[in-house]
Parts: sequence; structure tokens; C-alpha cells
Amino acid sequence: MNHDNFDQQMMQRCLTLARQALGRTSPNPLVGSVIVKNGAIIGEGFHPKAGEPHAEIFALRQAGENATGATVYVNLEPCNHYGRTPPCTEALLAAKVAKVVVGMIDPNPLVSGQGMEKLRQNGVEVIVGVEEAACCQLNEGFIHRIVHKQPFGILKYAMTLDGKIATTTGHSAWVTGPASRQVVHELRAACDAVIVGGNTVRRDNPHLTTHQVSGPNPLRVVMTRNLHLPSEAHLWDTEGAPTVVFTEWGKNIPLQEKLRNKGVEVIELTPLTPAEVMQVLYERELSTVLWECGGTLGAQAIAQGCIQKILAFIAPKIIGGVLSPSPMGDLGLEKMTDALLLKNISLRHIDEDILIEGYL
Ligand SMILES: [Zn+2]
Repeated sequence: MNHDNFDQQMMQRCLTLARQALGRTSPNPLVGSVIVKNGAIIGEGFHPKAGEPHAEIFALRQAGENATGATVYVNLEPCNHYGRTPPCTEALLAAKVAKVVVGMIDPNPLVSGQGMEKLRQNGVEVIVGVEEAACCQLNEGFIHRIVHKQPFGILKYAMTLDGKIATTTGHSAWVTGPASRQVVHELRAACDAVIVGGNTVRRDNPHLTTHQVSGPNPLRVVMTRNLHLPSEAHLWDTEGAPTVVFTEWGKNIPLQEKLRNKGVEVIELTPLTPAEVMQVLYERELSTVLWECGGTLGAQAIAQGCIQKILAFIAPKIIGGVLSPSPMGDLGLEKMTDALLLKNISLRHIDEDILIEGYL
């Protein structure tokens, strides 16, 4: 399909608008909308969070009566069903828009294509697939959640050039530079939850917040089979961000009490596995989950299909050490030809570090 440059620019504007709600819309997607008449933007909007109006509605409100005969750009197919809000197709028809340009169709097979069909049946011209790849990428977590009925898992780690995440003594602050850590804070703001294992809590006492970045804090999740954790930790301060601790049934009851008194949610789950935890997070309508765990838990999460995307920060440092840990535990692979091969690789320089992103 060939679209002119103007359509692409307007769709990119939709994506920019949509990103303003990054990390806030789950279980809904990120959606932005632009209304254009005679080559000028007359309305803009984005979906701020679940339960609030959709992007098209905000844009239509801004355009007012001017929307008659206008072209509406939206990165995701307008909805055609009654959810928490009335269908956007009805609002678009009521406003008498002439044309709707859609980035991608709804990934939900139960409703996919229905919005476009409704508009076309009522004489509205519909174009689909403008900047489709960018639209899919923006909502990759949402799409995965809808299609696979589980959250989208991202595994993030930082390692030295010789593949180590810490020294032989376990010291790991910091592998990468401040600019990379800033990128991690931005990443957290775009995710619904961050998961670490008990070792990370004991060794690093992390905050797992977005720090100086403006953006919501994700749900902080700790997976610990035995609940051998300190009674004082940054994660138990739940004023700025909630924390959930998953442990197995009946483990360390006194600490469970203490944590609950501090406002930490404790969930007992046996067997405690990455897949079971992801199922609980799915039921809580979370779309994107960031795994910031060590190699043992990371390997389990990969083996159980909980990881779809890898973000590897590589620092130009060499620390050495036969016993210093690497980012990945045992995957049970014996031949190099069995290695997991990432797809759609992208590379980015962040000061002196390199970020490699790819999909499993
Ligand atoms: Zn809608």
C-alpha cells in the first residue's frame, strides 16, 4: 500500500500523543487521534487511562462542528462495541467525518475489522495500515496480552563486555553509566510491573521506581520461594509505589505479617513459578512486565515462555573472574546450534554503553 507522506506524519503525531499516557492505560492500549480539515489539525486527543474516553472522543470534542467532512487519524481501529464507554464508531458517524485513517486493526479476533466495517457501511472512507509497524510496536504489550492471554515479558540486564553482571564478590553497582540507568527508569515508567528475585532484594536493596523520570511507578513484584528477606528494605516502603511479594505456602509467617503491616501484599503460591506469577498479573489486567532479575530466575522465565523481548545493556568494561555471574542461568542447551536466536535486532549507543534489543 502506498500512502502519501502527510498521512504518515499525522499517524506519527497520533503515536506521539498516545505516548503521553505511557504506563497508564492498561488493560487498554495506547491510542492517539488527530483530526484534519483542509490540511490543518483541528482536533487532537489521546486515551489517558482505562475508564476514561477514547482518543477519538477527545479529538472530536476539540474539533467540534468542524469535524463534519474532516479526516480522522487514529493508530488503532476505532472500537465498535460497548465497553466501559460507548463505541467510537457511533461518535465518528454522529460527527459526520468523511474519512478515517487507521494505523492497525484491532488485534482482538472477536472484534477485529468490525469498526472499519461499520464506518464503511455508513459511507465513511477508511484507510488501514499507515505506519503499521510503528503502531504495532507501540502497543506490543497490549497486542501480546490480547492474542496470547498473558502479559508481554521483557527481560532487561546490564553486563560487562566479558558477559558479567557482577564481580566475584557480587558487587554490581554499577555496570552501566548514568545515561543507561536513565533509560531503564523510562522503561519502568512504560511497564505495568517490574519483577525481581529474592537475591536482588538481599544484595542490591533496589527501589525499582522511575526516580527522576516523570511517569507512573510500576507494580513492584518480588519472587522468593522461602521468603528469607530483610525486614527492612526500600521495596517495603509502599508510599510511592505498591509492592507484591510472591512466596510459597506457609513460608516465614512472621515476616509475612510484618510486610502486610507495612502495606506490602503477600501472595502464597505453590509451586511458585514465573508462569504462575504471570498468570496472576494477567488476571490483574497488566500488559507489560519487566523482568529485572538475576540469571537463575531469568532462565526459568525464558524456559516457561514468559519472556518475549530482551534488552541487553553492554558496558565497555572487563571485570573477569571465573565465578562472577553472567546474566543467564542454565537453559539446558548443549550445542551452540541450540542457542536462542533473537529476531528484529536493534542497536543503540547510550553514551559509552550499547543497548541491544531483540525478540525471542
Ligand atoms: Zn473507542
